[in-house]
Amino acid sequence: MTYEPNLLRTPGGATPSAAGPAALRRANLSLVLRELRDHESLSRADIADATGLHRATVSNLMAELLERRLVREVGVEHVGAIGRPRRAVALHGAHVGALGLEINVDYIAVHGTDLSGRVLVERRVAFDTMGSGTDRAVRRLGLVAKEAAEAMERARAVPAGVAVAVPGLVDVARGVVTLAPNLYWHDLPLADELTSMLRPLDVPVRVDNDANLSALAEFTSGVAAGTPDLVYLTGEVGVGGGIISGGRLLCGADGYSGEVGHLRVDPNGDQCGCGRVGCWETKVGLAALVRAAMPEQAYGLPGMPVPDPDERVADIARGLSSGDRRMTQAVAQVGQWLGLGGSILANLFNPRVIVIGGYFASLAQWLLPHAQDQLNRLVVAGSGAQCRFVASTLGFGAASRGAASMVVDQIIADPTSILDSLPRPAVH
Ligand SMILES: [Zn+2]
Repeated sequence: MTYEPNLLRTPGGATPSAAGPAALRRANLSLVLRELRDHESLSRADIADATGLHRATVSNLMAELLERRLVREVGVEHVGAIGRPRRAVALHGAHVGALGLEINVDYIAVHGTDLSGRVLVERRVAFDTMGSGTDRAVRRLGLVAKEAAEAMERARAVPAGVAVAVPGLVDVARGVVTLAPNLYWHDLPLADELTSMLRPLDVPVRVDNDANLSALAEFTSGVAAGTPDLVYLTGEVGVGGGIISGGRLLCGADGYSGEVGHLRVDPNGDQCGCGRVGCWETKVGLAALVRAAMPEQAYGLPGMPVPDPDERVADIARGLSSGDRRMTQAVAQVGQWLGLGGSILANLFNPRVIVIGGYFASLAQWLLPHAQDQLNRLVVAGSGAQCRFVASTLGFGAASRGAASMVVDQIIADPTSILDSLPRPAVH
């Protein structure tokens, strides 16, 4: 299976040399749609200039895209004061749906859009994934997906693809969750199971890591949207990362890249949930912060109920606001470790921005000064690297939003996959 998660910023035109007519048509349609995705509206001449395609070719492609309603005319654009009026077109596809889902420890999130990114469905369902067992959890996820697909169809957009974000290692090519320790999942063929649950809807189902998809959401619609070199960090009990490099999501050979929580930062440190010692998440994960800030409520104490992580973070934020010394010290320490790990990522990937999500974002005002100081000290390129931490504003919905965005990317990378199956609109 080919896997092209993000072709948004690929420069240059189609490569006709090695392509037959079908591949060439696919590549050219994709080029035109990508150009339109990056701009609100463009004239045919703009598209020809930007893509290097002949104007006649653009007109031809446009006729097909208009007929299939993937683009629409948006009226007349006047270029300059005395310029000739030009008809502009914009990405449309209101009848083509992209369904993104996220399953996490205690919720399932849904984000469904049309091809232009218009939101059609968005919801979060509380669900105890951890305590439910694999079969029940997958059934519930299938049900939520089905309901969302039906809601999208009621909004007249038939899902053309589904993507699911999972907090764990995912064999992306096979759609298998290799290991999601916090869900107790291993070697779960999630893409196949969801595909059969969604029938009669017959669409490709992708599975990917939640931090990778959140990174994609940050790149397409977050606080640093459009920044082509960006690292996203998710701060929960575990710490994950997603890396956008040169405008593309970095996947690695098997889709396992971004496991930054298990960078070894302290050989004499504590044991990590992964079995190794001194991983970064043992320093900056929520469990580490709680242990230092409110040790009486530390994770894993015998006889303690597991409180809501949001409540713990809110408790800590209250303590910090009132100047609690122990909490202030704990957050300073976590902030420094955050900066140290961030400097490793900055040295590796030279990102312009490190976007922090999860609890990192909730406590950003206290964490960031320490993290940024440490980063500035430790990055080899020094301040020349110009890398700054910023807090995500996407909240819990980041991964499902990124999942929907990935579906859109995939449709744009190969529009013929849906064009050939879309019914031609009836002629009135
Ligand atoms: Zn580890």
